[in-house]
Amino acid sequence: MAVILNEVKNLNHQYMKILIDNGHGSNTPGKCSPDSRYHEWSYTRDIASAIVRQLNSACYDATLLVPETHDVSLRTRADRANAWCCQLGKRNVCLVSIHTNAAGNGRDWMTARGWCCYTSRGQTAGDRLADCLYAAAELYLPGHKIRKDYSDGDPDQEADFAILKNTLCASALSENLFHDNPADLAFLESSTGRQAIIDLHVRGIIQYINQFA
Ligand SMILES: [Zn+2]
Repeated sequence: MAVILNEVKNLNHQYMKILIDNGHGSNTPGKCSPDSRYHEWSYTRDIASAIVRQLNSACYDATLLVPETHDVSLRTRADRANAWCCQLGKRNVCLVSIHTNAAGNGRDWMTARGWCCYTSRGQTAGDRLADCLYAAAELYLPGHKIRKDYSDGDPDQEADFAILKNTLCASALSENLFHDNPADLAFLESSTGRQAIIDLHVRGIIQYINQFA
């Protein structure tokens, strides 16, 4: 680890350990499209792995938080992230959890569409990370609804998700379109859509590191 850290610190950009989380697991009930062809755990793992590969090839230190395919408890996920925070300092760690959204109970196709990002409540470093992801989403998802909540002065939505409130580092959770909306799902499954979701996270994370870390 020390060798990797020193090598990365010698690069031009600020050192940051990037943790990419992926929603749920193969044993999580539900979390699929109404026709059962799409599974959130599988898609988000593919996307998370591609984000890590792209960041690594740009010399950023990114790692999958959950390399397992089965579900790993939120407590274990937070413990893993916080172990990195203790080792490197919480300002040198950031976390993005990748999900896709659903408006219904999984049995019916719904009308809700769009992309959004959550942070924990209140002003934290996660809000700056989310701002960068929102800016990247505007760029990479033209024509898609970007769901914003400006009630607290910034675009992100806030919630008591364990992966956000129980982690010490800057953390954000992206809901990448709705897997129970046919148009959103068709885009998600297209090669253009997959790459757009990957690219928006890579760009947003790099922007965050360059601007704020
Ligand atoms: Zn999810």
